[in-house]
Amino acid sequence: MAGAGEPAIEVMVDTSKKKKGGYILIVEGAIPTAKDGIHGVIGEKDGKPMTMKSWVETLARDALAVIALGSCAAFGGIPAAYPNPTRCRSVGEVLQAKGINIPLVNIPGCPPHPDWFVGTVASILLSGLPKPEDLDEHGRPKAFYGQTIHENCPRRAYYDENKFAKKFGDPGCNYELGCRGPITHADCPLRLWNNKVNWCVGCGATCIG
Ligand code: SF4
Ligand code: SF4
Repeated sequence: MAGAGEPAIEVMVDTSKKKKGGYILIVEGAIPTAKDGIHGVIGEKDGKPMTMKSWVETLARDALAVIALGSCAAFGGIPAAYPNPTRCRSVGEVLQAKGINIPLVNIPGCPPHPDWFVGTVASILLSGLPKPEDLDEHGRPKAFYGQTIHENCPRRAYYDENKFAKKFGDPGCNYELGCRGPITHADCPLRLWNNKVNWCVGCGATCIG
């Protein structure tokens, strides 16, 4: 079981002091920024609530790099959608607002595939930080997000021949059922999910992006 509560916070603070410039800060979730972030509190410091916003601003400064894990951390996700009363922001937006210029890798997905995360961390440990050419224009590793779902979909031949499924379970491309594979960058058709059991279109659903 992962650490929680005070011991986890102690390890986090201790690491940031002892390993300055040598740790990776991994952030999950969009960051509430309204009312100086009070809608998202993670533990306390000196008896006062610490907001997610202040943790990120504090810990990112001395990190080697920051990983924004999941669509909310990477792009704001559902919490940042209108009307966004807690003024949720992505990690990148929060760092930019504070002028914190630190390497940032976005690993979006709802959820992100475990391989995308572990593969990114392993790559940093083995080969160092990604070079600019390793990331796309949204800060995502091209190794995992370099192609669209559509490019590798086994139903692609149906799409090219304009053979579209009219209801779930039909043979054909699921585009008219709402598939967002043409505009979604990820390697699900090749990597599959749940220990390579299947993936969304493979089990008859659509890619929801
Ligand atoms: S099912 Fe979706 S990803 Fe597959 S070919 Fe059709 S539109 Fe593209
Ligand atoms: S196929 Fe689309 S909806 Fe399914 S996990 Fe991959 S990116 Fe997400």
